[in-house]
Amino acid sequence: MLAMNYRGPYRVRADKNVPLPEILHPQDVIVRVLRSCICGSDLHLYHGLVPDTRIGSTFGHEFIGEVVEVGTAIENLQVGDRVMVPFNIACGKCAFCRQELYGNCHESNPEATAVGGIFGYSHTAGGYAGGQAEYVRVPYADVGPVVIPNWMDPDDAVLLTDVVPTGYQAAEMAGIQPGDTVVVFGAGPIGIMAAKCSWLFGAARVIIIDQVDYRLEFAERYAQCEAVNFRSIGDPVVFIKTITDSLGADVCIDAVGCEAAGNSINTLLGRYMMLQGGSTTALHWAINSVKKGGIVSIVGVYGPTNSLVPIGNVLNKGITIRANQASVKRLLPKLIQHVQDGVINPKELITHRVPLEEVGDAYHLFSSKLDNCIKTVLIPPL
Ligand code: NAD
Ligand code: ZN
Repeated sequence: MLAMNYRGPYRVRADKNVPLPEILHPQDVIVRVLRSCICGSDLHLYHGLVPDTRIGSTFGHEFIGEVVEVGTAIENLQVGDRVMVPFNIACGKCAFCRQELYGNCHESNPEATAVGGIFGYSHTAGGYAGGQAEYVRVPYADVGPVVIPNWMDPDDAVLLTDVVPTGYQAAEMAGIQPGDTVVVFGAGPIGIMAAKCSWLFGAARVIIIDQVDYRLEFAERYAQCEAVNFRSIGDPVVFIKTITDSLGADVCIDAVGCEAAGNSINTLLGRYMMLQGGSTTALHWAINSVKKGGIVSIVGVYGPTNSLVPIGNVLNKGITIRANQASVKRLLPKLIQHVQDGVINPKELITHRVPLEEVGDAYHLFSSKLDNCIKTVLIPPL
């Protein structure tokens, strides 16, 4: 079959000769992929910032598709069902799944102490093949996948596998109280969705910060928030203090993660930061610009332990840091309702549709922020 194939940092291509996935366990199903997306998390893999990302692997944790084969133990799905598949692979039974912490499932990734299994996200997340392919094996398929309601646009459905729940959970973890000022770092799909969802928790003011103007303009329109280019304000921490009576923001959301040192990639500092596991600039800014006793909510993904985090300030300021992989399944019932009610319109984030054959170009476009790219959908051949 055709599938995305990782050849090393900044090298991704479509491969026509990837073996078809097979049922390996009675709780598996095989899904024919209808759409998959490229996520900012895939960029960390693409940039070589995630350990144990093996050559030849297929990425892709945001996908929807049609069930074409079911394992003997499957009760909730049948051949022909069209499903959205949460990016977390979760057993549904372990101590963490029982608390709906599907992002931390112990069984789907027993080697790891933190993250559970994730489709197409290196061997640190279980080594599962991803959905940027024609077909994908979905383990524990009675637990995660949700049948797409008839009324739902598939473009909305594919964004419910990660972007919408993650943005929503970023706002939820931030513990936003009515009247709060929320600062979101990163105006990618996740930050934009976090800004949008912050209003649902009663925020009075939402400010999104990035350096890419077209993304800021999009965020301003889509999430109806204030948008600020950090290249035009001097020190963002000083800026945020200035607009909050010197107190700092009530909550800050990091929707950036281990960015490949942003624009400084060609500088000595940029390279040094990459060696450290990527830039932590946004996290520094978030910690330093939240008010005392405030909450920093991190959904931005970081690879290895990063020594550049000002962790002492976290303690000294009594900041609560909340961070996790989104628990997609827990949030889906509420979010499906929000989509049906028109409160959230996920598909508006999609700016590009690219045939799976051109996956290499699609990664380059998204990574380099070309052609006003916000979110790219990969379409497998029919
Ligand atoms: P993206 O790459 O499209 O967006 C990141 C944005 O951050 C870019 O627009 C970039 O210009 C901006 N940026 C870079 N440095 C910055 C800085 N110092 N301050 C402010 N903005 C800065 O990625 P995305 O798809 O929006 O994902 C964002 C993050 O969320 C990634 O780290 C991704 O891995 C993570 N993520 C986490 C989960 C989860 O469950 N926790 C799920 C999905 C994505
Ligand atoms: Zn994702």
